[in-house]
Amino acid sequence: MTLPTDSTAPAGPAPGRPAADGLLPWIRATGPAGRADRPGAPRAAVLFDRDGTLVHDVPYNGDPGAVRPVAGASAAVAALRSAGVRVGVVTNQSGVARGLLTRRQVDAVNRRIDALLGPLDVWAVCPHGPEDGCRCRKPAPGLVLAACRALGVPPRRAVVIGDIGSDGAAAEAAGAFPVLVPNPVTRAEETAAARTVAKDLAEAVRTALSHLLPPGRAA
Ligand SMILES: [Mg+2]
Ligand SMILES: [Zn+2]
Repeated sequence: MTLPTDSTAPAGPAPGRPAADGLLPWIRATGPAGRADRPGAPRAAVLFDRDGTLVHDVPYNGDPGAVRPVAGASAAVAALRSAGVRVGVVTNQSGVARGLLTRRQVDAVNRRIDALLGPLDVWAVCPHGPEDGCRCRKPAPGLVLAACRALGVPPRRAVVIGDIGSDGAAAEAAGAFPVLVPNPVTRAEETAAARTVAKDLAEAVRTALSHLLPPGRAA
């Protein structure tokens, strides 16, 4: 199967070219399509935010050695996989646009997370800054849409788990289902405005499975 984009796809516009539509997310599909499928399992996906959701947030982290999964992250990924649900990450990495991170560093950190928790089925990274006008930086829907496309999962069959309001906004803009797992940096008004809130990753996964799987299928 040919995926729409892969790690050899251009990262964005050529230098000097106007931005706008040339700004593409980085997509890396790690496993062969269908690897996480269980016979008869409905095609569905859970997309995690990375920093502050799957791993502890280290601002502009380019060091794989600094990766620390959040409690329950490994079990959350395993539970989804055993239910036949695809698992991916949708992450804003504006440190790239700001010149604080290279693509090599971002990839190294993501591969470390793959080694600790996965491998995950797809990585969707927005390397742009807030002023770049891209369509992928959350709260825009582009990362969620690109990850779903790479997985062959319709967005309405995807749940996005994140720790801030823009994760949920990106989910809703894409037609996916949002679940907020607040942490100490989540603003109270974002938690209050969230459509669905879970106290930790385990509860978020239970919520996701009950949304995605028919009754009796959610463990
Ligand atoms: Mg986050
Ligand atoms: Zn972007």
